[in-house]
Amino acid sequence: MIPITRVELAADTEARVLAVLRSGQLAQGEVVEEFERRFATLHQVGHAVAVNNGTTALVAAMQAIGLRPGDEVITTPFTFIATLNAILEAGATARFADIGDDYNVLPEAMEHLVNERTRALLPVHLYGYPVDMDGVRAVAARHGLPIVEDAAQAVAASFDGRPVGGAGVGCFSLYATKNLSTGEGGVVTTDDDAIADRLRLLRNQGMRERYVYEIAGHNYRLTNVAAAIGVAQLGELSDKTARRQANAARLTAGLRGVPGLLVPPDPDERRTHVYHQYTVRVTTDAAIERDEVIERLTAAGIGCGIYYPRLVNDYECYADDARVSVDDTPHARRIATEVLSLPVHPSLTDAELDTIVDAVRQALGS
Ligand SMILES: *Cc1c(COP(=O)(O)O)cnc(C)c1O
Repeated sequence: MIPITRVELAADTEARVLAVLRSGQLAQGEVVEEFERRFATLHQVGHAVAVNNGTTALVAAMQAIGLRPGDEVITTPFTFIATLNAILEAGATARFADIGDDYNVLPEAMEHLVNERTRALLPVHLYGYPVDMDGVRAVAARHGLPIVEDAAQAVAASFDGRPVGGAGVGCFSLYATKNLSTGEGGVVTTDDDAIADRLRLLRNQGMRERYVYEIAGHNYRLTNVAAAIGVAQLGELSDKTARRQANAARLTAGLRGVPGLLVPPDPDERRTHVYHQYTVRVTTDAAIERDEVIERLTAAGIGCGIYYPRLVNDYECYADDARVSVDDTPHARRIATEVLSLPVHPSLTDAELDTIVDAVRQALGS
């Protein structure tokens, strides 16, 4: 069996975690600070604030920019459910703009939804491929809106040479299967000193110094134990990302031109794709349906997955929630029926990649 994801720890993980355990400083402390410094450097931002998961990162980011009930946040419907849940948790209303063939939200579709209640733009760099940030920045500038980036899947991806997470407030996830992981964890990035200050207060009960509370806060803290895993992973991140990129190139070389199959967008001189997922589309031109492709791949021992089978605003649990709009996004609706993610993780061998290519070709009769 070739799994869709494989969790691999960096070589120095055990030593770093053991050092934390022996120090007795398990909760947030110096190791979290070291992780934050290195994460901020990697993303070329002034501040990185570590939190306990990526969903929290999004909630904290929206709290930090001062969202209020009734405020609208424009995002994509084709994302992990956390994007929507975080908007609701922050008390705001979600609006949904359609996506392009690169699976990412379109800035012009976002602009179409801007109105007097709009308070933020929330692009998601899906699968590790950066959104057209030139376009998003232009919409934001025209309407005076802050940008919150959901970069949960896109650690160290960049657009025009600039890492994601620096356009306003950036939100990353360190969940076990993400490209950089601490088991559970998250990071909020920003160049804005005041927002960073507010994030640090929100993270720690609103406390400036011991028993001096300035705002109503929460406990969003990451532990030193988790941060130690993160520091170790940061040392290997560029190698691991390069392996994901090489794996994706090998898959694309083998799969391009198969009838009914669309390979993911190629990275170009403007965008680096960090391939959290390698996602193809099985279109109506294919000899068989997507779900049958999955059955055949599974039978052949190839792990694969659908990220994501439905649009986030298309679930019963939100049907009566006036804060979840049902904006029409036909392209996203269609793409959700076509996507199929194949293994691309760094520990795949060339032989395994060739097995994946052969199995997909065979499943599609090509
Ligand atoms: C993983 C993920 C999140 C949430 O991160 P957690 O660490 O699991 O809370 C948010 N948005 C997207 C797009 C994600 O993939």
